[in-house]
Amino acid sequence: MTPLHISSRRFLLDLAELATFGRRQDGGIDRVAGSAADLASRAWIRERIEACGLSSWADDTGNVFGRRGDSRGPWLLVGSHTDTVPGGGYLDGAYGVIAALEVLRVLHEADHPAADMLEIVSFWDEEGAQATSTGGLVGSTALCAGGHIESIAGYLELHIEQGPRMEAAELELAAVSGIVGVARYSVTMQGVANHGGTTPMLGRADAGQAAVKAAAQIIDLVTALDPDMVANLGFIEFEPGAPNVIPGRAEFVVEFRAGTEQALRTVRRRLEQLVQRSAEAENCSGTVEQISYKPVARFDPALCHTVEMSLRTVAPAVGRLLSYAGHDASVLSRYVPTAMVFVPSTGGISHAPDEYTPEPLLVQGAQALLQCVLAVHASASSPRGAELVPQTTPGVHSRPR
Ligand SMILES: [Zn+2]
Repeated sequence: MTPLHISSRRFLLDLAELATFGRRQDGGIDRVAGSAADLASRAWIRERIEACGLSSWADDTGNVFGRRGDSRGPWLLVGSHTDTVPGGGYLDGAYGVIAALEVLRVLHEADHPAADMLEIVSFWDEEGAQATSTGGLVGSTALCAGGHIESIAGYLELHIEQGPRMEAAELELAAVSGIVGVARYSVTMQGVANHGGTTPMLGRADAGQAAVKAAAQIIDLVTALDPDMVANLGFIEFEPGAPNVIPGRAEFVVEFRAGTEQALRTVRRRLEQLVQRSAEAENCSGTVEQISYKPVARFDPALCHTVEMSLRTVAPAVGRLLSYAGHDASVLSRYVPTAMVFVPSTGGISHAPDEYTPEPLLVQGAQALLQCVLAVHASASSPRGAELVPQTTPGVHSRPR
């Protein structure tokens, strides 16, 4: 069989057309889940799937799927999401969906047997950008809670990196081994509000000072603990918040992301110690409360290996990375063997109009995704790769509508 190649022209044209849904004057994309632009883009994706003789449907959540009408599964699911944050970029999510569509089209047109094991998806509301959102990943979570997941043998997602690490390491492609865990804490300092002029410095119980002194040490704490960990102090507030009143209460929210649960446990302990020390030094009391915790997602080692080997057939500059952003793949990885592929983000910019990856790298990434699917198909067809495909074929719960 002659080597298969994606059609770079068709792929780039589709990517460009998807970007017209919700495009703003400044080039940013407003395609928040459930918006008119999001709904219109989903109808368009279904048209594009059906235009080449494939069947498409949407589930009750709003996830859009495509596959060969007569394929029976279990399927390797490949895709991403097409919703955006307000003023987001044209690649985040959309790239992985259009690449999945192109891979399925190429396999279908070549009548390659891998086409029969492939299902593509555009997940509903990955970003969680609506005001009422509980944090996104809505479509992938719903898929995994429903019956259709029984028919899914594995999940692959191609995505832009959304950070500067690949560019810095001069990587063109990366196999993603997992997604960092994310822990968010609210730190509260309780002191005594008093006259900011008449109260001598000695003897104040200044909750604001306690908070900023603790907050100022967090970055050093994290860097010393784990060079791969990141922390972000994104919110701080003093009460009552007046120039002439000593803050009686202060709160800040800090978020940690790390590749191991161990690192996240350790940083929590260190944070608690730091908060106690800083509070006592200012005659205050301090508390640390966990707001949310997303565990580390570990992708399937065998599938990651297959992916990495496939990437090496497409480009020499291939690496392994952890993802510092959340993805639908983190949800899927708890249910089925999962892996991801990254392409670089120019300048590390994402969730912004300037989000960009040069077209040759986008095309190469889509070709790499095709190679990954072919490799998974080849390994699933061999006795050694049987673990990716369930031994018994479960019933299909979501029929194409
Ligand atoms: Zn995304």
